[in-house]
Amino acid sequence: MVRVRFAPSPTGYLHIGAARTSLFNWLFARHHKGKFILRIEDTDLARSSEEMSRGILEGLNWLGLEWDEGPLYQSERIDVYRKRAEELVGKGCAYNCFCLPEEIRERKEMASSRGEYWEYDRRCLKLSEREKSKFEEEGRPKAIRFLVPEGEIRYSDLIHGPISVASKNIEDFVLLRGDGLPTYHLSVVVDDIEQGITHVIRGDDHISNTPKQILLYKAFGSPLPQFAHLALILGPDKKKLSKRHGVTSILQFREEGYFPLAMLNFLAQMSWSPGEEKRLYSLGEMIKEFSLEKLSKGSPVFDLDKLDWLNGQLISQMSVDELAPYVFEELKRENIIQSEPSGKKKDWYLKLVELLKERSRKIKDFPLRAKPFLSGDIDYDPAGIEKYLRDERLEELLPKLREDFARMESFTVENIEKVLRLRAEKEGVKAALLIHALRMLVVGTPVSPGIFDVLELIGKEKTIERMDKFPEI
Ligand code: GLU
Repeated sequence: MVRVRFAPSPTGYLHIGAARTSLFNWLFARHHKGKFILRIEDTDLARSSEEMSRGILEGLNWLGLEWDEGPLYQSERIDVYRKRAEELVGKGCAYNCFCLPEEIRERKEMASSRGEYWEYDRRCLKLSEREKSKFEEEGRPKAIRFLVPEGEIRYSDLIHGPISVASKNIEDFVLLRGDGLPTYHLSVVVDDIEQGITHVIRGDDHISNTPKQILLYKAFGSPLPQFAHLALILGPDKKKLSKRHGVTSILQFREEGYFPLAMLNFLAQMSWSPGEEKRLYSLGEMIKEFSLEKLSKGSPVFDLDKLDWLNGQLISQMSVDELAPYVFEELKRENIIQSEPSGKKKDWYLKLVELLKERSRKIKDFPLRAKPFLSGDIDYDPAGIEKYLRDERLEELLPKLREDFARMESFTVENIEKVLRLRAEKEGVKAALLIHALRMLVVGTPVSPGIFDVLELIGKEKTIERMDKFPEI
């Protein structure tokens, strides 16, 4: 059975790259009807924080990436890692190292002053029993280093293909530090073995760690999982995506009014698409089509426009009833309404949501777009005024249209359209002339939802009021 894990270190937020890693693990598990395990890699006690762990869980919950096992916290398993490191010493695959960090630094500096590359010189591998017991008696801190065997390490990455590294390029790396805490290599391999992980799917930044970890699997006598390393996401400047690009936590996107499904499509489509078409895919479609082999090797570039577009697609597909609670919440936050509308008022607001949903890309777009419907303060677009309100014929036409409107008893979409078209016909002008002018007067911008719908919703009184403001402009 497929068993995959998402193993974030809670030293930072759940950022875009990590969220995409968790999505691909989750999709892979769901596609194969396997298990998705959450493991918090918090052995770096100084840099990890509970707040960050909570944020990571919250981010996954928001995205809907539910895990089947965990969260397992590595900080609760320090003893296990210690034992496993000792086990390797017992097997002759690792050895105790008494070198102090400052001694190592000194040797490194000396080598570099001679222009030489330095890697751990195996000094402690050569210690006699007497020397070892002397150090033990002195109470020197004792690390455990892995004894890198000679040879070639080969594996086939599911995304990058065959990879091979000569072990002479790998120094005897530390498994357990002098303070008794495990290094990442030890804890990650011990847990992946114990948890029966079959596929390790993670970011490309771990590709250089993989040969060391493969050596550890072999030393423990455990079968290797398959590895798949995901291409890193780049910012628009083609540098690794980071805080500098203004993108921090995945939850930032929740605050900005994006929906999880749009976010999941966005994350997935950076390296893969469930189909040929550029569109929003359902989770079911993504699960069905997912395959690691289809992920692209090249680094995708983070493109916020694409996310906006996907979110807009989702908004336009949502029913008014689904969408309205989010919009009401946002209108409340912006102090546009004090409480959720009810009764007749609610019907009016639902119509507003229906009208605005076509071109809105985020929930945050609604308050601004709703403004002309709610207050008389209209921000007139100067270019629109020049383009649509400067025709001299309007001076006579608009007052006539105003009177037509004033006489109307039922100010409905159909009636407004009929009256306007009749007036245009009588005057021998195109209806578009009146439509564009009206839109500028009533909404203030050259684009809006269908003008007759807009006018009905704004109502006869306000429409006329705004037409009367015309000479001021
Ligand atoms: N804890 C590591 C990180 O956050 C991931 C380890 C792994 O996936 O192997 O980068």
